[in-house]
Amino acid sequence: MLVSCLIAFLCFYTVHMIGITVGYHRLLAHRSYTCPKFVEYILVMAGYLGFESSPMWWATLHRAHHRYTDTELDPHAPKYGIYEAYIGWFLHKEYADHLKPEKLSKDMINDPLYKFLDAGGDWHRAHLLNSFINFSLRGIMALVWGWEIAAASLAAALIVQQMPLLLNVVCHIPKAGYKNFNTADTSVNVGWVAFLTLGEGWHNNHHAFPGSARHGLTATEFDPSWLVIKTMKAFGLVRWMNEVSITTPYKGLQGEPAVVKKPVELEIVSDLQPVSTKREMAADRERTAPTPLPVTNLADRTSTRSRAEGHRRARQKLKR
Ligand SMILES: [Zn+2]
Ligand SMILES: [Zn+2]
Repeated sequence: MLVSCLIAFLCFYTVHMIGITVGYHRLLAHRSYTCPKFVEYILVMAGYLGFESSPMWWATLHRAHHRYTDTELDPHAPKYGIYEAYIGWFLHKEYADHLKPEKLSKDMINDPLYKFLDAGGDWHRAHLLNSFINFSLRGIMALVWGWEIAAASLAAALIVQQMPLLLNVVCHIPKAGYKNFNTADTSVNVGWVAFLTLGEGWHNNHHAFPGSARHGLTATEFDPSWLVIKTMKAFGLVRWMNEVSITTPYKGLQGEPAVVKKPVELEIVSDLQPVSTKREMAADRERTAPTPLPVTNLADRTSTRSRAEGHRRARQKLKR
């Protein structure tokens, strides 16, 4: 029985983690590949049943993380406190003004399933609904397969839930890992986090190329989630995917303002461009940029008074 419980645990862990990495993250938040709606729902449900709460809430906050990395508007920047970055942000009650799905997730706000699971934008209700569905499922599992399998499933789901929270902190502590790209943020690649999260720990690569379905880029950076997407493509379940390699030139954020102001739908569409087009866009940006900024810590680039005041106000609102 112990062996079957262990096997069940590993299977549930893999399924729910894939739901988060391939479903919530690389599909919903970044649209790094396209697939039929029924495939999207199956992947997202695998994440939802890993206590991952509202898909729209998750994707919206993650987009905000990339948009405002390491600034006070970042929902979970460890430089403003480990507790807040780990779990504090998760427990807030509602979307702050700069985190509204109406602004950041226009592609999701009319989806009936995501709308329902978002519980009217009330985070606590959305988390409660998620917990209710998750615990109910394990109750049904206990009746059908016995309590041992249900317990293995519950343990796997609860541990999976902690992984993105852990990643948000560890992969933004510069000393914890290494960089392949000189991104203007604290993101680093962390091997053991990548192992636990099936490839998500190659976080510096991901911040350099957020729109890429592939995160592990070197021979030693194993990325099982990308292999899953590739396999789905081979079986016709994925229509298109955006993929970079370690040799793709990284143009950085030079010449761009600290807080990228372009509309998010454009940001998403730009993520959907083939790599060659992205290169052209980056080259275009370089040509038109008046004075390129040095690639330094993002905090240094939030220096204008109005921007700093804006951040403070949004932060206070967030804390309320
Ligand atoms: Zn990050
Ligand atoms: Zn991301």
